[in-house]
Amino acid sequence: MSETETSWRKLSRAEEAVIVHRGTERPFSGEYEDFSGRGTYSCKRCSAPLYRSDDKFDARCGWPSFDQEIAGAVKRVPDPDGQRVEIRCARCDAHLGHVFRGEGFTPRNTRHCVNSIALQFTPAP
Ligand SMILES: [Zn+2]
Repeated sequence: MSETETSWRKLSRAEEAVIVHRGTERPFSGEYEDFSGRGTYSCKRCSAPLYRSDDKFDARCGWPSFDQEIAGAVKRVPDPDGQRVEIRCARCDAHLGHVFRGEGFTPRNTRHCVNSIALQFTPAP
């Protein structure tokens, strides 16, 4: 195990199901779905900062939605079925959710649909 991996947080079974096995939490069930605190959302596993509350918007889709990631923090991987684009933590490869374009929710026209359980929120000081 590398030094990086030893600093990763130990995951609960529910966290592992999403973050490692690329599952999806039930819609409208997550901690941050209906949440508007100001601060930063980091990776639950490696603590890399991923999203800012300023970029969160209410898509009413059942999961926290952001129209922009922190630059370089998230990588995009096409799903094997060619239909959707998966998003992962660029540092530790944790599964976050999927990213969609062209829905027109915000001027950036992008929706990062992220599982709450993959995120850890830190309030702004
Ligand atoms: Zn990570």
